[in-house]
Amino acid sequence: VKIVCIGRNYGGHAAELNSAIPDEPVIFMKPASALLGPDEDFTLPEFSNEIHHEIELVLRIGSRARRVSAEQAPRHIDAVTVGLDFTARDLQSDLKSKGLPWEKAKAFDGSAAIGEWLPVSKVNMENTEFSLSINDELRQEGKSSDMLFSFDSLLYHITRFVTLEPGDLVFTGTPEGVGPVSSGDRLIGSLEGEPLLNLRVTESR
Ligand code: ZN
Repeated sequence: VKIVCIGRNYGGHAAELNSAIPDEPVIFMKPASALLGPDEDFTLPEFSNEIHHEIELVLRIGSRARRVSAEQAPRHIDAVTVGLDFTARDLQSDLKSKGLPWEKAKAFDGSAAIGEWLPVSKVNMENTEFSLSINDELRQEGKSSDMLFSFDSLLYHITRFVTLEPGDLVFTGTPEGVGPVSSGDRLIGSLEGEPLLNLRVTESR
């Protein structure tokens, strides 16, 4: 399994990080070792003092997709959930300023948390709403209709470069409202008001 992630897919989030609105999707990847299942704890890594939450809609690929058109894209998506693209913002800012790749800030163990899957047939993919609460306080909310690049457009762009295989995941970018998490926080990610992801943040060991 590989995890393909999209950066800057919501105008509000690009603005809060002072990033330019891209002409094409910003694509990066996480390894399978980054995956964190529903209801698993997230352990703060010792190499960062600023781990940010990014709640995102996550697609699961159902069939092999290589150089697909936007029109062909929907048939390759079989399920959707919410996920957290945990980001070591202090490291990322440092790497960005040096013009270096982001992997150390984005691809570490446990950095790709995912919720329980819903079949795409159960979700209005063009206009679905999702949110993140921390300790019962709403922190981020977004809807798929606000994405700069739609799911179908993302699959077109990704599969020009990388073949997607069954079981691969696509994190589709975060709306505004990212911020730090602390030990003891309870994070709940919801899709259409249904809580699908529930994790606790624990101290590094
Ligand atoms: Zn992200």
